[in-house]
Amino acid sequence: MQVKAIAAVAPDRPLERTTIERRDVGPDEVRIAIKFAGICHSDIHTVRSEWGTVQYPIVVGHEIAGVIEEVGENVTSFAVGDHAGIGCFVDSCRECENCKAGLDNYCLNGSIGTYNAVGRDGEPTAGGYSEQIVADARYVLHIPENLPLDEAAPLLCAGVTTYSPLRHWNAGPGKRVGVIGLGGLGHMAVQIAHAMGAEVSVLSQSLKKKEDGEALGADHYYATSDESTFEDLRGHFDLIVNTVSADLDVVRYLSLLRTDGALVQVGAPSKPMQVPAFALIGGRKTLAGSAIGSIAETQEMLDFCGEHGIGAKVEVISADQVNEAYERVVASDVRYRFVIDTATL
Ligand code: NAP
Ligand code: ZN
Ligand code: ZN
Repeated sequence: MQVKAIAAVAPDRPLERTTIERRDVGPDEVRIAIKFAGICHSDIHTVRSEWGTVQYPIVVGHEIAGVIEEVGENVTSFAVGDHAGIGCFVDSCRECENCKAGLDNYCLNGSIGTYNAVGRDGEPTAGGYSEQIVADARYVLHIPENLPLDEAAPLLCAGVTTYSPLRHWNAGPGKRVGVIGLGGLGHMAVQIAHAMGAEVSVLSQSLKKKEDGEALGADHYYATSDESTFEDLRGHFDLIVNTVSADLDVVRYLSLLRTDGALVQVGAPSKPMQVPAFALIGGRKTLAGSAIGSIAETQEMLDFCGEHGIGAKVEVISADQVNEAYERVVASDVRYRFVIDTATL
């Protein structure tokens, strides 16, 4: 079927309206009528070719929330009318060590991205800035019915990308967690770490969003433009999650870790980081990275957010506002996720 979508046609041109083809639903697949699609900073890095070359035109979007409209004959896990979501990948090899261990986000043969990839059918994948999507039901998530779909969409990337390292590095009671950057990922990290029972601090460029951060569950809020922050918080955190999309001197933040603390990089700027060995050796510190989460963990995160009533703080926009929204995200002027209403495509 032909469906309406928004595509990027070149790295330096505005996104524009288009139509794309969605395949017929296979026996193991479902078709979702997309209601809302979040704008992740990764969409912007991708369409602007900041992470490498891209095949244009490209339809991005990997924070997809909608309603099941059709199910293949073998599918028992979904029914028409269910609320469903798709995140950053729509398939993986299913056979490698990691896929077998339930770590399909780290598929050794490369999981198949929701966009900027080639699907099993040999066709380029196309993401959530569109009206409909067809995918294998194994890679589709159940969205708890108590979460509004616009607030749920960003959970599919921003939610799981922060939930996964918080779980893996044991955020919880008695742990001090720092979140660098209060954007799309950061505002999810604050809510989730707070719900896990950790003591949460935001490390933002300024104090402009302090009230919001506290309302989201932060116990403390610091401006990184203030030199005293780095003196006062030396050796303070068990875990720091860096969500910043731009280059940042992580060495300064390593000094804020306690002995055995970990700084986990989820923000993905294109330039390499410079880290002297001594920033890690003293205090047995870990500098780590983390990529989204597995399908199983994404479902666990959605259930957790359903139980705790956690959704994203969203600004719902129409298709006409996408280019302006991109500029605002890059300028850190987002509170806290733009979500496209696909009825306006
Ligand atoms: P976002 O909404 O733009 O948030 C990034 C935040 O970083 C901003 O709100 C801002 O927070 C801070 N920031 C921006 N520029 C800065 C600068 N020059 N110096 C210091 N702080 C700055 O982006 P997002 O959608 O949350 O994504 C964040 C990053 O994570 C992107 O690089 C994205 O590609 C990446 N990502 C990674 C994964 C993964 O699996 N690892 C998944 C999704 C996204 P303040 O205003 O509070 O300072
Ligand atoms: Zn994303
Ligand atoms: Zn695999």
